[in-house]
Amino acid sequence: MEHYDYIVIGAGVIGTSVAHHLAALGAKSVLVVEQGTIGAGTTSQSSGILRTHYSVRQNVELARASWWAFNNFADYLGDEEASCGLVKCGYLISSPEGDKLEPLRAALNAQRDMGIEVQLLDAAQARERLPIAQLDDAALIGFEPEAGFADAYLVASSFARSARRRGVKIVEGARVTGIAREGRRITGIDTTAGKFSCGMLISTQNIWTPEMAAWAGVTLPVKPERHTVLALECDAPYTFDMPVFKDLGSPGMMYYRSYGGRQMLASEGVTGETLAAPETEQGEISLDYVVEVGAQVAERFPAYETAGLASSWTGVYDVTPDWNPVLGGVEGVEGLTVGFGFSGHGFKLSPGVGKLLAQHALGLPTDVMLEPYALSRFDSGRLLVGQYGLGAVS
Ligand SMILES: Cc1cc2nc3c(=O)[nH]c(=O)nc-3n(C[C@H](O)[C@H](O)[C@H](O)COP(=O)(O)OP(=O)(O)OC[C@H]3O[C@@H](n4cnc5c(N)ncnc54)[C@H](O)[C@@H]3O)c2cc1C
Repeated sequence: MEHYDYIVIGAGVIGTSVAHHLAALGAKSVLVVEQGTIGAGTTSQSSGILRTHYSVRQNVELARASWWAFNNFADYLGDEEASCGLVKCGYLISSPEGDKLEPLRAALNAQRDMGIEVQLLDAAQARERLPIAQLDDAALIGFEPEAGFADAYLVASSFARSARRRGVKIVEGARVTGIAREGRRITGIDTTAGKFSCGMLISTQNIWTPEMAAWAGVTLPVKPERHTVLALECDAPYTFDMPVFKDLGSPGMMYYRSYGGRQMLASEGVTGETLAAPETEQGEISLDYVVEVGAQVAERFPAYETAGLASSWTGVYDVTPDWNPVLGGVEGVEGLTVGFGFSGHGFKLSPGVGKLLAQHALGLPTDVMLEPYALSRFDSGRLLVGQYGLGAVS
């Protein structure tokens, strides 16, 4: 049986980041097993927004730890051809009077306290940056210049290439079907491509994490939730120099960004449709739904009242009870590290999370404290609950 010191299940943006960081930190024997192809899971469905804005302080730390990587991607990977497709357009977030106002103020102040550049804009200043929006009801507007969006699929494939160049073996089209154990320790995996033994198993299975829960006989709380993304087009283009926009005042806590330099990508930031089983197939998008979301868009972007639907797709989030990830070990199971439950906001955290999970697996001190993200928080009640309600802002 082939042996690897470290085996990673899943080649999404998290698994490939773990593989890159394991190798970059000196691991010599690493295998990644992916049932499909690199980045083709939920990573390929991502809106790709990068920001450090969060109401949960630990997430700000994690996002900040990742930002340098996105901003210096080729250097970070040591690969001059690598690109993450970064569009550094900034992130605008606004709230009207009401229950989101004080949480927004607190989050913006916390970012500033942590040394992150955040500007407070009035409606006229915000309009200069996003002239297609009407923001007359805004009571508070924050702008994070060092933010934007990038291409999640490109990032996953770049991490994978870097990992391979450093000696990592990535096997695509092979499904992990079970684990081997000796007492409390995991010693290997069964796959459709054969059995492998390992010193440490790292599960980055996203919505398929319940498989690991069943194999290991533990509870890993995560459910698949489908979300819809619309691309709209009209004669008021949403250009690349216009910021990503988060509208805390809309019923769906909508988020927006440029799509292709002309169209608008629009999606809701609230709970979606819970699925009975993990699957990434495209869901149905009803005309009623498009009309309902379209009304929210037109309220904020009047020219989009008559916009056409250029395209639409669905994607699936791996949602935990507090909408934040679980990172680290699993009590009672030795030789297992998990990273799941990114709840619709894992792309922006992927470089930092990959490094943290690699450090944890290697037994090294971690750059950012893992403890707040421990699985045990669901028993202890020390949840990481965001201040904007359920949804991917956190
Ligand atoms: C619609 C949508 C919009 C989003 N927008 C944003 C955003 O704007 N900003 C942001 O930061 N985040 C966003 N996200 C979230 C972000 O994209 C995800 O958190 C991230 O891509 C998850 O990466 P992953 O590696 O955990 O998961 P995945 O990409 O799903 O990777 C998991 C992999 O594990 C493999 N796997 C599972 N089980 C097995 C097995 N038994 N054997 C072999 N392989 C297995 C799967 O095939 C899959 O490829 C969005 C997500 C969606 C769906």
